[in-house]
Amino acid sequence: QTATKDHLRIGVLEGDDIGHEVVPASVQIAKAAAAVTGLKIEWVDVPIGRRALDQLGHTMPEGTLETLGGLDGWILGPIGHREYPKVPEAINPHPILRKRFDLFANVRPTRSFPDIGCLHDDIDMVIVRENNEGFQPDRNVVMGSGEFRPTHDVTISVRVITVEGSSKVARAAFEIARARKKRLTLVHKNTVYKLGCGMFVDSCYEVAKDFPDVTVDEVIVDTMAMRLVRDPQSFDTIVTTNMFGDILTDEAAGLVGGLGMAPGLCIGRGSIAMAQATHGSAPDIAGKNIANPFAMIESTRMLFDWLGRRHGLESAVQASELMKQGIDAALSDPATRTPDIRGTASQSQMIEGILAGMDVPN
Ligand code: ATP
Ligand code: MG
Repeated sequence: QTATKDHLRIGVLEGDDIGHEVVPASVQIAKAAAAVTGLKIEWVDVPIGRRALDQLGHTMPEGTLETLGGLDGWILGPIGHREYPKVPEAINPHPILRKRFDLFANVRPTRSFPDIGCLHDDIDMVIVRENNEGFQPDRNVVMGSGEFRPTHDVTISVRVITVEGSSKVARAAFEIARARKKRLTLVHKNTVYKLGCGMFVDSCYEVAKDFPDVTVDEVIVDTMAMRLVRDPQSFDTIVTTNMFGDILTDEAAGLVGGLGMAPGLCIGRGSIAMAQATHGSAPDIAGKNIANPFAMIESTRMLFDWLGRRHGLESAVQASELMKQGIDAALSDPATRTPDIRGTASQSQMIEGILAGMDVPN
């Protein structure tokens, strides 16, 4: 849709704790792949999070959004916002970025690999989670904080579902399903949340009219929690609202080796996309060279695949394929994978393994 460009401008937002390890690792792997396929990348460091607070006085310094708006996409590391001091300068940038750039769909794939401790073989699915509405109080587009305490012993939490928000995420999910096995599962609970989930489901079926080649079915969210454990292989593409997606994607990660195996790409209608792993900043393992870099590297790979296809930039798609080759190679050997996925490698040894698997000098 956009005119073909000859290079990509990619932001690097390290975030906190293990972000300082897994984000540079992702840049290193992407750089190596791009050098082989001839993809030119302009890397732009964007300070964010704790380090930005300490050095520049704000977790999201002035000008951040303008800088990001001039980029094709960015790699966002995890933010340890719960550890931030309680000052107005220490905001959590995540919801602001998702809202400002209308990154309404969080695309979270789950794939099983042999011998790393997956609970099933042959899992290959994608959960598309609505990103900007629903229950999440700080992401609530209409109701501000979304939680109220009318009296000291009563709390009211508001869940916002709109036709527009539901239709947008549904369309993104149908497009993904169309490129995969052409099967989309709607996850909801319209048996109880007749208005909210009802609107979500109706919006999905409205969008479905444009995708007659995609088969649609529905699973109630609690049944889905059970079926993900018992027969996750029976699913291909799944679309659901914000909080259901939050919970189900962590469950899906648990099926394939844990949070280190859960990548994500936040997308919207335009071409800007944000690579963001599902895991948090994991302060307990930061600085020990043991964090699993897969989730962040795979998120980065998804970013290049997405941008390559959106801009008709073949060298970016090829770079993503080369990264996949390296990742698959490293995951197949305990000596080049981290302990959380039944390996013996440090994080740097895993990165060396990925580079070796891409047949590029490290
Ligand atoms: P958030 O609220 O930001 O989602 P969280 O409370 O869910 O954070 P995480 O930081 O995601 O917590 O991590 C939970 C635990 O999972 C960590 O303490 C760590 O032990 C493990 N973990 C998370 N990410 C990784 C990773 N990439 N490699 C290895 N272990 C990880
Ligand atoms: Mg979490």
